[in-house]
Amino acid sequence: MSFPLVPDVATTPAEEIARILTDPGFGIHFTDHMALAIWTEAEGWHDDRIEGYHPLALGPAGAVLHYGQEIFEGLKAYRRQDGSVWLFRPDMNAARLNRSADRMTLPRLPEADFLAAIGGLVALDQAWVPEADEMSLYIRPFMFGSDQFLGVRSAAEVTFAAIASPCGPYFADGISPVKIWISTDLSRAGQGGTGAAKCGGNYAASLLATRQAQQQGCSQVLFTDAADHEWLEELGGMNVFLVTSDGRLLTPPTSGTILDGITRDSVMTLAPEFGLTVQERPISLSELLSGIGSRNVVEAFACGTAAVITPIGTFRLEREGKIEDFSLPEPFGPKTADLRRRLVDIQWGRTTDQFGWTTRVA
Ligand SMILES: *Cc1c(COP(=O)(O)O)cnc(C)c1O
Repeated sequence: MSFPLVPDVATTPAEEIARILTDPGFGIHFTDHMALAIWTEAEGWHDDRIEGYHPLALGPAGAVLHYGQEIFEGLKAYRRQDGSVWLFRPDMNAARLNRSADRMTLPRLPEADFLAAIGGLVALDQAWVPEADEMSLYIRPFMFGSDQFLGVRSAAEVTFAAIASPCGPYFADGISPVKIWISTDLSRAGQGGTGAAKCGGNYAASLLATRQAQQQGCSQVLFTDAADHEWLEELGGMNVFLVTSDGRLLTPPTSGTILDGITRDSVMTLAPEFGLTVQERPISLSELLSGIGSRNVVEAFACGTAAVITPIGTFRLEREGKIEDFSLPEPFGPKTADLRRRLVDIQWGRTTDQFGWTTRVA
């Protein structure tokens, strides 16, 4: 598919875009265009196009509204000092969309088509890619069952779309460590479930725990395993890492219940540059809590495309009816800072990218 532009859209005036880009927030403003394609059992993928950003027409019997057959991706376009616009590892998003599609019995979208849709959209809407430090254009590709039928089955008609939204720095007032609530009652994913797929349903399932976290004065929730609530998993939308005093970088394995983050993979690849030995293995709650107590676990952070690397200052949880805090010896420690700096420097093209992770689109 080539995602041709279906013409005649009035675009936002440059002054209006400039006004929005002074303080875009996150996921509030959308660019002038969107990419679309339709899949049917009979025809496969077809009707690919880029159109003006507009509401989707979906009948009330639309499958996704009832049975939640939906997946999505999230990636960013970064503007470099010379004005060019680049994507970070978009092939990984294309591959993960297809792994999610397999789990949710949605059709695979060939990687070339994914890249054509995203690249075409960003090139067309490049005026929306901010120039300022730590600002970027967030791209949201998604796919859902769009046929009109109330029977429970894998959708026979599927819609793929991609939209884009300028976003400001995640931490508007400088990076500050967050407080994380560890949930030991609610679960995000179980063995054999959909935890490894990037699907809307996982997010719906995480919202109550996130609300509890906020009621406990925390910004996010860290889930533990569904069976025993003893093993660390991940946050609602970010993976978690610990740094030990003897130079190890620990993260739980993505064996079925944890989303395989592209930021996670990038962090593990970069870690040896900073003298860190990566250990991808189960981490128990007691290892975390006693490790903080004995100052063996010195730093912790969460990571994902939207917030890059977010330092964790404190873990809070309820044990035997009491709320307890476990604060990291180094709440925004040197290894967290090094990894974050290196990653954003690659994303914004300020350092050598020996991995070939970045791709120019405009
Ligand atoms: C998207 C997502 C992440 C982070 O993945 P990135 O590819 O790094 O953005 C982590 N956990 C969950 C549940 C996610 O949906």
